Amino acid sequence: MREFPRQLIRRANLWFEPLLGLIFPNVCQLCGQEPATKAMGYVGATCRKEIKRIEPPLCDRCGLPFSGAITQNFECSNCQELDLAYKWSRASVAAEGPVLEAIHRYKYNRQLWFEPFLVEQWLQGARDSVITGGFDLLVPVPLHPWKEREREFNQSERLARAISRELMIPVNSRLVERIHHTRAQAKLDRKARAQNVKRAVRMRKDLRLNGQRILLIDDVLTTGATTSACAKALIDGGASEVCVWTVARGL
Ligand SMILES: [Zn+2]
Ligand SMILES: [Zn+2]
Repeated sequence: MREFPRQLIRRANLWFEPLLGLIFPNVCQLCGQEPATKAMGYVGATCRKEIKRIEPPLCDRCGLPFSGAITQNFECSNCQELDLAYKWSRASVAAEGPVLEAIHRYKYNRQLWFEPFLVEQWLQGARDSVITGGFDLLVPVPLHPWKEREREFNQSERLARAISRELMIPVNSRLVERIHHTRAQAKLDRKARAQNVKRAVRMRKDLRLNGQRILLIDDVLTTGATTSACAKALIDGGASEVCVWTVARGL
């Protein structure tokens, strides 16, 4: 019963979401010092100046940017070590500053009003490449059901649905599921993480793909281990190719 009032408040937040524009003053929710509208995801112009876009040259595989000129295909040493199942992954912006703050508050504190801002960041980097890329389906990276129950939503799924409405590419959030709980992930080193996650995603038994090209969607790419596990499950399940585009990535 102790949980009840908190749950009720959370649900009320969801119902009132469309009314946010009426309730919220048009003020940047990151700095509180400048105007910002609902359509801007309540992130103002000054805070936006801190955003670092990810620009080429990049590692062909994981999208890690490099300084200096690279004239031929290049794969970073990290990717050469890992056995990644996706064809390539890209991110629109660096996971730092206002973007990281908005992502954290969006997913851990349920501050859903940042969503238009995050979708806008994703689209700015991804729109053209994704439209010409000929993808059949968007798939959000799944959360473990325990985490989803705790958080009450999967941020990747919400982002994928918003992106799907913009790009007119269908989304399917039921294809892959998490099977192990990877709570202590953050404390593990890169290799242990990869091992832990490798078997942690599976394609749902009753579903099967037929050569579709899939774009995986997530908020942040860290080591790429989870997205790689998803890609492997999808390829084993009949996808012809899996690529990844996240809002942000660590540099
Ligand atoms: Zn601001
Ligand atoms: Zn790489």
